[in-house]
Amino acid sequence: MRAVGFYEHSESLDVLQVLDVPEPTPGPDEVVVQVHYAALNRLDDWVRRGWKGLELTMPHILGSDMAGEIVALGSEVSGWEVGDRVVANPGKWCNRCEWCERGEHSLCVEYGILGEHFPGVYAEYVAVPARNLVRVPDDFPLEKAAAAPLVYLTAWRMLFTRAGLRAGERVLVVGAGGGVNSVAIQLAKMAGAFVYVAAGGPEKVQFARDLGADVVYDYREQEWWKEVYRDTGKRGVDLVVDNVGEATFPYSLRALAKGGRVVTVGATTGSRSNADIRLIFWKQISIVGSTMGSQSEFRAAMRAVFEGRVDPPVDSIWPMEEYRQALERMLRGEQKGKIVLRIKG
Ligand SMILES: [Zn+2]
Repeated sequence: MRAVGFYEHSESLDVLQVLDVPEPTPGPDEVVVQVHYAALNRLDDWVRRGWKGLELTMPHILGSDMAGEIVALGSEVSGWEVGDRVVANPGKWCNRCEWCERGEHSLCVEYGILGEHFPGVYAEYVAVPARNLVRVPDDFPLEKAAAAPLVYLTAWRMLFTRAGLRAGERVLVVGAGGGVNSVAIQLAKMAGAFVYVAAGGPEKVQFARDLGADVVYDYREQEWWKEVYRDTGKRGVDLVVDNVGEATFPYSLRALAKGGRVVTVGATTGSRSNADIRLIFWKQISIVGSTMGSQSEFRAAMRAVFEGRVDPPVDSIWPMEEYRQALERMLRGEQKGKIVLRIKG
């Protein structure tokens, strides 16, 4: 079957290629899904570059998000049939450890992600554990379903489980083009928050407004941490979502109200911060980390998507052979929402 991946790690995109690899067979508790659409994530870029300790079987197939149709069932799978339309939680967990017992799947000692530690979904067929599946309603387009799993799962846990977002709170989302940030705007609005966004350039400002943001600053023109402080009557916001990292974290702390919290699921611009610790204790700020999410959070997030309470933003759809060009668009930061690959011809 055809798949997209690489034989060796590299900073360069030249190692990316369309692979010819064997089709997977399902383990006892797995199904094989014929992938119709898949979606790009930042993770693709980290995995191709590689890091110390990451040891993958080569060739490695990329991709974490997909939607498709079940074509084969493992011997112990029940409740699913060939032909069912599905999405899968991109996380994999052991189901045995202390954290799995608590239902905290993304804290599992063996936690990994499809396309990161395991073969990914940029392939005509992929084997996934049946316990990861959620059914896609008949009338819901698979290209939109494919755009949803990783970002809605991540944003759901980040906002509701970890940061405890409540109706009426003021939220600032730093950045708007990327997947998690754009759907965090939608989910925060869905939950009844008042949402401020710092976005880069007129197009991203408009995109954030279209997603439902109440107030949008252009960070190329405005010192957003000062603007938001002024616009909240020198109070600050209850919650800042900062996945930008090094470049913005000190300012995010300044934008917070007393007793506020900042939540992070990533650090696009770098992972070191010289945050002012005096601000943290004086304002009694909580710094909250989050990553991916559990199957129950995945179900809740997908329910919101499939019931139309939030709408996965799709930037563009590319044939799988043009993965490199699609990735280049993402790496240039031009996308508004998710970049989708068409896998099934
Ligand atoms: Zn576990």
